[in-house]
Amino acid sequence: MENSADIAIVGAGIMGLAHAFAAATRGWRVVVFEREPRASRASVRNFGLIWPIGQPHGILHQLAQRSRAHWIQVLNAARLPYLSTGSMHVVYREDEADVAREFAELAPGLGYNCSWLKPDDAIERSAAVIPDRLIGALWSPLEVTVDPRLTIGIVPHYLNEKFNVEFRFGYAVRSIDMPVIEAGNERWRVDRAIVCTGEDFETLYPDIYAAAGLTRVKLQMLRTEPQPAGWQLGPALAAGLTLRFYPSFGVCRSLPRLKQRITEETPEYDRWGIHGLVSQTACGELTLGDSHEYGLTVDVFNREEIDHLMLNYIGTFLRAPIMRVAQRWYGVYAKHPDRPYLSFDAAPGVRIVTSPGGAGMTLSFGIAAETLERMES
Ligand SMILES: Cc1cc2nc3c(=O)[nH]c(=O)nc-3n(C[C@H](O)[C@H](O)[C@H](O)COP(=O)(O)OP(=O)(O)OC[C@H]3O[C@@H](n4cnc5c(N)ncnc54)[C@H](O)[C@@H]3O)c2cc1C
Repeated sequence: MENSADIAIVGAGIMGLAHAFAAATRGWRVVVFEREPRASRASVRNFGLIWPIGQPHGILHQLAQRSRAHWIQVLNAARLPYLSTGSMHVVYREDEADVAREFAELAPGLGYNCSWLKPDDAIERSAAVIPDRLIGALWSPLEVTVDPRLTIGIVPHYLNEKFNVEFRFGYAVRSIDMPVIEAGNERWRVDRAIVCTGEDFETLYPDIYAAAGLTRVKLQMLRTEPQPAGWQLGPALAAGLTLRFYPSFGVCRSLPRLKQRITEETPEYDRWGIHGLVSQTACGELTLGDSHEYGLTVDVFNREEIDHLMLNYIGTFLRAPIMRVAQRWYGVYAKHPDRPYLSFDAAPGVRIVTSPGGAGMTLSFGIAAETLERMES
């Protein structure tokens, strides 16, 4: 027997869920197919950071802010915990402080809401920051932390209960031949389809993916045991290495000097694409990372050297009661070398929306709103 819907979404990672939300709020009948019993790829393996400050000024920064607004709406409606604690980039070297100060000066004119903090003010915002030799911090109030494992698990229930979105977990989509979709042992007749299959380039539309120029990025991650009750990280923390990582800081004339010093002094951080980010989960653990290894073939074995470098670096700015590592894992996302994400028609009625790189949590709901607006017009 054939089922029917107005639109099918393939993939129940954050991109698929955001598109399901955007379609359902327009009154469309939505079905979501996820090949695994529960989504377990990049969308549950990340820091859970909604991080507008990392997006370059202009269109992408605006998209991140739009996405953030949808996130808050969904998190509140689904009664999911989140930390609206903002972010701090803490700096301990003069060349890092130059970049952070320069950005704080330029940023308001570029649409960011952030400012430079002196050491005492930074420590007042987060007791987790090591005070020795702290020069200051770039503070931004907008960043939000969600608990990705919890959120990606609960949002499907919310979408089902509130909007009647149908979910088929454990149903891999094998073929899309509009208007028919074959998934698991079911056939569906749909008007449109959106393919959000993350870093699977081989199953659906392999020729299109092969020509798209995408690659994979592997990130190693760590998580501490829960911190004592009542201890709070406060803002999500980043530090000097992160200033060379997010494209937003590319506007700073002082950045090349910082990058050069890091390359000369600590080439191992460049080699493994390491910077230091810290976020806190709903249960109080700290999520720590990350590293970046590029290439279609992912090394399935983690490198202890990378974990060691990350922990050493994070230990230069973070003091938390419990630093014992409870979990280690890696995640993989799809990335285009030049474009922040890809969105294009693969066939009449079928749109692929993929590869938001390291910003999929940040941009997902904004991208999804744009996709649906384009479909409606
Ligand atoms: C370690 C790590 C840390 C990160 N930290 C952050 C962060 O803090 N903030 C941020 O903004 N971004 C972050 N990112 C990036 C972000 O996690 C990704 O951009 C985002 O999760 C990608 O979402 P997605 O839905 O496209 O992909 P995925 O999460 O990979 O989801 C794709 C889904 O499609 C399913 N699927 C594939 N093929 C089929 C098929 N044929 N049929 C049915 N289902 C299929 C898969 O099983 C999968 O569940 C991080 C990424 C990683 C790896």
